[in-house]
Amino acid sequence: MNATNCIFCKIIADEVPAVKVYENEHILAFLDITPINPGHTLIIPKEHHENMFELPEALTLEMMRAVKKISHGIKDGLSEPGMNIIMNNGVAAGQTVFHAHIHLIPRKNGDGHAMWKGGKYSEGEAEKVARAIIAALEVETEKVPLKETSAGRRAEGSESPAGLYASLF
Ligand code: AMP
Ligand code: ZN
Repeated sequence: MNATNCIFCKIIADEVPAVKVYENEHILAFLDITPINPGHTLIIPKEHHENMFELPEALTLEMMRAVKKISHGIKDGLSEPGMNIIMNNGVAAGQTVFHAHIHLIPRKNGDGHAMWKGGKYSEGEAEKVARAIIAALEVETEKVPLKETSAGRRAEGSESPAGLYASLF
């Protein structure tokens, strides 16, 4: 699947140049054209999907496999001590290219790039927010069953949204 007028689909199709660092059947990784630090890399699926919310689960797992592999390549290859791994999903989150991508940003000690400033929950707000997420996860779980645990059993209790939900009431 390929979208017309998508800059990343054009990179996949070799219609737009990019400095590529990794490629497999499902994934392409290339250097960001406006790096926060040298080695700032973007990992994209070869299929066009807008962001995390649209990505099929199997492709999401392929993305994460690539994140694990390429993060080590950047860290070891450039000898950088830290890395931010970021995905902007939606305009509100700062997404500007609407082909799903994960940023791997190598960080130097004291490189001066600021992170977000954290806030505080008001009394009872965290539980209310958590209940909304957990209730939605219950619906999600009906659509996508929980994965088998490594022991081959379905995850129960603390791993299941139902278990967490009960603990909040
Ligand atoms: P985001 O704000 O998460 O959507 O980030 C989009 C990123 O894509 C930005 O960091 C851009 O610098 C990067 N970008 C846009 N066009 C290109 C391109 N042709 N080659 C490499 N990186 C690009
Ligand atoms: Zn695309």
